[in-house]
Amino acid sequence: MLIKLFYIVCTALFSCILTLEVSADIDYGLNPAFSPSSGIEQTVKTANMVVLIDDMGYSLALNKAALSLPGPLSFAFLPFARYSRQLAIMANQLDKNILLHAPMENIHGLPLGPGGMTAAMSEIEFKQVLNNDINAIPHLVGVNNHMGSQLTTMKAQMRWTMEVLLERGLFFVDSKTTAKSVAWRQAKKAGMVGVKRDVFLDNELNRPALQKQFAEAMALAKKQGYVVLIAHPHAVSINFLRNNLARLAKNDINLISLSSLVNQLKSNQLASSVDNVLVH
Ligand SMILES: [Zn+2]
Repeated sequence: MLIKLFYIVCTALFSCILTLEVSADIDYGLNPAFSPSSGIEQTVKTANMVVLIDDMGYSLALNKAALSLPGPLSFAFLPFARYSRQLAIMANQLDKNILLHAPMENIHGLPLGPGGMTAAMSEIEFKQVLNNDINAIPHLVGVNNHMGSQLTTMKAQMRWTMEVLLERGLFFVDSKTTAKSVAWRQAKKAGMVGVKRDVFLDNELNRPALQKQFAEAMALAKKQGYVVLIAHPHAVSINFLRNNLARLAKNDINLISLSSLVNQLKSNQLASSVDNVLVH
């Protein structure tokens, strides 16, 4: 009798531990429909964070330091910056996500550098420039905008952008450099997953400001299920991330790549469309 009781307790304990491990290892995504239908993990809310480092390609030493940050961080490279190609190849070897950081016209008239896209371009010219930018960076999985406070407010130009990205099999991340951006909505309208930046880590380059932004990103990850944090390859930002990324696991937040987030959001979209089919 005692042996039987011991066996039952052991089996229950083992299956509990197994369930906990499985739920920690697998991202069930952001939709509770993807959680297994029974067991303890239903009560565990998944929180994910994407860390995207923009403006890659100009400083070899700082960019290499950024690439050496541990975990599945994502990196956006300017199309024709001196070290973009070399660093993108390195990023791929390190199994990081690589994006094109497409320079787009801003309202301040700041120079865009080579490969810049402007409102004055015809559709053909605009698409040609974007395609050339895409061709300049190897191993791309997606695109986000560099600057763009003018261009991302323009519906037609954002539609052209999404048409090219759909053709090239790339996703789009709206850096949200302006609250008036329509890029995210145009992506959704084109049937793509809508991903946008939630928090900038380093608009202010001092430690208290970085702490505040990182804390905000962690809180949003818990609240929304995921958060997209954009940082830049400044020494202070890289050091901050090196010292603080480990806090994510301690706070039950998974650091995930952009492509992993996009896949999860796609699955959720699919799930909700299947739900709709079932309902109607
Ligand atoms: Zn940028």
